[in-house]
Amino acid sequence: MREANLESTTFDRCDLTGLDLTGATLRDTRFNRCKPTIHAAAWGTLNGFISVVLDGRQRIDTPTAFGQFLRRAGKKAGATVDPCAHAVQLRALFGTFLFPDGRLRRSKVKRKNLVKGTGTDTVAALLDGAIKAGFITHVSGREWYECAKGQTYQAMVAFARNLETTSEIDMLLNDFCPIKGCTHIGL
Ligand SMILES: [Zn+2]
Repeated sequence: MREANLESTTFDRCDLTGLDLTGATLRDTRFNRCKPTIHAAAWGTLNGFISVVLDGRQRIDTPTAFGQFLRRAGKKAGATVDPCAHAVQLRALFGTFLFPDGRLRRSKVKRKNLVKGTGTDTVAALLDGAIKAGFITHVSGREWYECAKGQTYQAMVAFARNLETTSEIDMLLNDFCPIKGCTHIGL
């Protein structure tokens, strides 16, 4: 069902394990009595997601909310799929500014503390992406980087702590992650 148009389609009591829904258009798509296996389908990046209705009553109309629902469903079922390498690195990048509980540890960080360890090219590229996306600012003429404030900061905290994504974080990871159909955050 890759790239299929599933608008107004109803799945009833289906075992969705392994079903490939990558790139499928989901609009008013209904999943009735499919919850035990819904996390086990391949959902890709949910780029065709508009809305789904679960068991006739639970409507989800953002890809972010649906991704979080899938993660929770997967956890309940005992499935563990790790986040991809790029998600792990972005989390570490954001985490440099934060305490584990999400409080700001430091608002300014030097480049050598952000771009370090193995895979420095990847981290440097992700850092540039995070700057373009407005999460991190390079203070011009200085060697340090500042993290965003307000809502953008909250998004960084939610990602660093729980791998909760926003559309900006999704786009950033989509730009860098080479894995086709990767959800980045695992299940
Ligand atoms: Zn990925």
